[in-house]
Amino acid sequence: MDLHYVSTRDRSNRVTASQAILKGLASDGGLYVPEHLPEFEFKPEDLVGKTYQEIAYEVMRHFLTDFTEEELKTCIKRAYDSKFDSTEIAPMTYAQGAYYLELFHGRTIAFKDMALSILPHLMLASARKNGADREIVILTATSGDTGKAAMAGFADVKGTRIIVFYPKDGVSAIQERQMLTQTGNNTHVVGIHGNFDQAQSGVKRMFNDPALNARIREKGFQFSSANSINIGRLVPQIVYYVYAYVKLLENEKIAAGEKINIVVPTGNFGNILAAYYAKRAGIPIARLICASNENRVLYDFFLTGIYNKNRPFQVTTSPSMDILISSNLERLIYEIAGESDVTDARLMEALTRDGRYEITDQMRQKLGDFYGNYADEGQTAQAIKDIYEACGYVIDTHTAVAASVYGKYKADTADETKTVIASTASPYKFLHDVMAAIDPKYANAADFDLIEPLSEISGLPVPRAVSEILTAPIRHDTVCDVDQMDDVVCKALGL
Ligand SMILES: *Cc1c(COP(=O)(O)O)cnc(C)c1O
Repeated sequence: MDLHYVSTRDRSNRVTASQAILKGLASDGGLYVPEHLPEFEFKPEDLVGKTYQEIAYEVMRHFLTDFTEEELKTCIKRAYDSKFDSTEIAPMTYAQGAYYLELFHGRTIAFKDMALSILPHLMLASARKNGADREIVILTATSGDTGKAAMAGFADVKGTRIIVFYPKDGVSAIQERQMLTQTGNNTHVVGIHGNFDQAQSGVKRMFNDPALNARIREKGFQFSSANSINIGRLVPQIVYYVYAYVKLLENEKIAAGEKINIVVPTGNFGNILAAYYAKRAGIPIARLICASNENRVLYDFFLTGIYNKNRPFQVTTSPSMDILISSNLERLIYEIAGESDVTDARLMEALTRDGRYEITDQMRQKLGDFYGNYADEGQTAQAIKDIYEACGYVIDTHTAVAASVYGKYKADTADETKTVIASTASPYKFLHDVMAAIDPKYANAADFDLIEPLSEISGLPVPRAVSEILTAPIRHDTVCDVDQMDDVVCKALGL
């Protein structure tokens, strides 16, 4: 049966999966969601022994029903290949009472690669299916990791261009260098004088600007999005939660049907939403533990039922989670509102107007699967140090937020359910803060001088993503104000 997607703000806005992937954001400003959340036809135990790629097919075919088997398998094969430095694609490491699902073995050593290595292929297949002959222009706002991962995915992919906006002073030195050295004649990188939320709002505004859209269409272009609002990113992220469950079964860490918890260091709410979809589709998952940094807007939301972004924006050592508007939360709101587009649209309008909204008690009751907490900067650093000292395993700052929150969860609940922590970045990506947490003697060293020391203390080989940017030439230098983003786009497209 074909699964359609509808806008969270207007259910009559109904499209196929491939159309949703092409459009990114619905024209009414809503996000595409499955009209009905699918349930897997398989049981996890049926997948024991299968590879990542095979499991990816089994999962994705339930969500992308208008793709043929061959189309999906081709996309999967092109995405999950030797670009990853582990044949397992997402290996798991047990450390200090939890399973770390390492989602950072792709080209840019952060979990965004898991979805962004397949999105360009899904998008081109979608364009072919829908007879779209315009050049696809990917507009992306990034808090540091998405931008590079998206460019790595789209670089030199025919029929596409990509323009990435990042907060000039809001990303790590390694992240910035990774972006500025990006090759590919179809890639553009722009630093903005503003924070991530401003970059994201600017991109959303351009998507919904009829005049700008008309102008670029006339020249043979159409916008699309590689942000986690695109279901073409969300669906591939469901895969690794299924994979993790299957591997725990396979390695006899859990019994068939045994429930596990999942902890996700959260920013835009995409990664944890994928875990929620996996649960709804039938994977035995007990709690979804949402870990925030000092931008604890989600923690407050789970605690009070009030989402309120009116608060100071904190720049932390986990910059990919420095977010006050978690876009994908809208998809959860839609679900807990009983798939009500009317309620969703009303709350999102309030968010735009007042910067806050409050959900009803009835909606709150449906959040029982979630547990939210946060880690401050000191606790995050402590988590890195503790786990390193306990077992020699080095985690990055984002994963450390999750590790710290998991500690709080256990202290709060005494729940001993086996737990998977989504490990979202390699420690090599956030060298300074990782090393300074382990030993204050590194606190004054520059990122690039810490590559060797990290390699020595962790025994982890230096990833290619790091070694290659040391010598690569800088290719991008555009910087602009928030209100100049449209001009930059027009200029990049030669308008
Ligand atoms: C993007 C990112 C996150 C946050 O993921 P969301 O899907 O936006 O919640 C966490 N950690 C790292 C390293 C990231 O790049």
